[in-house]
Amino acid sequence: MTVLGCIADDFTGATDLAGLLARSGASVNLRIGTPDGPPAETADFEVIALKCRTEPVAEAVAETKAALAWLKRTGAERFFWKYCSTFDSTAQGNIGPVAEALMAELGAAQTIYCPAFPENGRSIFMGNLFVGEQPLSESSMKDHPLTPMRDSNLMRLLTPQVTRPVGLANRLVVDRGVEALQTRFADLHKDGVAHVIVDAVSDGDLTTIARACADMNLMTGGSAVAMPLPAIYRERGVLGAGASGTQHAAPEGGALVLSGSCSAMTRAQVAAYLEQADGYRLDPLELAEDGVDAARNWLLSKPAAAPKIIYATADPKSVGAAQNTLGVARAGKLVEDALADLAQLARDNGTRRFVVAGGETSGAVTKALNVDKLSIGREIAPGVPWTYTRSNGHAIALTLKSGNFGSENFFADALDMLS
Ligand code: ADP
Repeated sequence: MTVLGCIADDFTGATDLAGLLARSGASVNLRIGTPDGPPAETADFEVIALKCRTEPVAEAVAETKAALAWLKRTGAERFFWKYCSTFDSTAQGNIGPVAEALMAELGAAQTIYCPAFPENGRSIFMGNLFVGEQPLSESSMKDHPLTPMRDSNLMRLLTPQVTRPVGLANRLVVDRGVEALQTRFADLHKDGVAHVIVDAVSDGDLTTIARACADMNLMTGGSAVAMPLPAIYRERGVLGAGASGTQHAAPEGGALVLSGSCSAMTRAQVAAYLEQADGYRLDPLELAEDGVDAARNWLLSKPAAAPKIIYATADPKSVGAAQNTLGVARAGKLVEDALADLAQLARDNGTRRFVVAGGETSGAVTKALNVDKLSIGREIAPGVPWTYTRSNGHAIALTLKSGNFGSENFFADALDMLS
């Protein structure tokens, strides 16, 4: 029976959460969207990946409610709403409205909000979110194209998104331990506070918080506050003691890196990998003129076993130039469609190990490979696991990396792990 049902508001966020839960050795399934049929072959932890971060509120609420309904059918009685560790949202939502809708469905009077991920430099102090040493509003998130974060105070960010009062359990309370934190929750509840922001600056804080919240039927946060849950469930006997996760054998076959992320870290990763692998650069302007045939021919000319990368990854200046000519959406779509097409071609020609960089890119590639359920394997970098699935009858290994995750040698490290 599933012990925790999780809903993530984007794709790579779902793999991030699934990877941290799988560190415990428990079985974890990641579903791409809410499955159509009833639950089958369920895992200890079920994670549904949605793509609702920036959807209109009503759509995000409807989709998460449908995901919750499916997760309830797995037998799960506890649920987790996962969003970004930088609290990516607008004044309308969708973090708060979805949480309130899930609370209503579950009859929950109170829930917590803890996007902290200390291992990746996200911490919360006195209700303010930091990225490394910078307040959120001074980090590069202030310029995000869809969800610019111009305030670092989580109470101020959440309040306009919800109908009921927001409160804070600060670091001083968390530091006093589980009972003090639970007392704080009870006091806030007496004052009518339904939404509690909880400070956390270290993994130890996250363990205290997870312990204090283990009986709540809904928790919300980044992935990291869910990480202590498997161990806590084991102590309580709701999760079996032994490792239940599958030992995955890496499928034999060629390997390919596909990169559509243009983040600073991905640019460094692409440059590092090009020192040891053959590379083909996709240019949106060329794709618009001549289509994807040149890239297809390049791919077909390479032996399946040779290390290779196809990338659209470019610096802000080239991205801007392509966007000026084609428009932001068309430039992005040309690249995503090309990478999706090349992923199919590679699979049909014997590639069985795929490394994909970029959140949107990952969505396009998994869709093209017709993948709906991923079984989670070993972690390559914090929040980025290998996953195993089938595509058109072939066993494949796939890793989906969001823009800024992983270190410079991520691509080579990922593939070395399988050999
Ligand atoms: P990240 O996880 O870094 O945000 P995404 O894949 O989510 O990466 O987003 C990157 C977007 O940029 C995708 O839509 C991709 O198609 C687009 N893109 C990639 N390369 C280029 C380029 N050279 N010019 C314009 N857009 C690009």
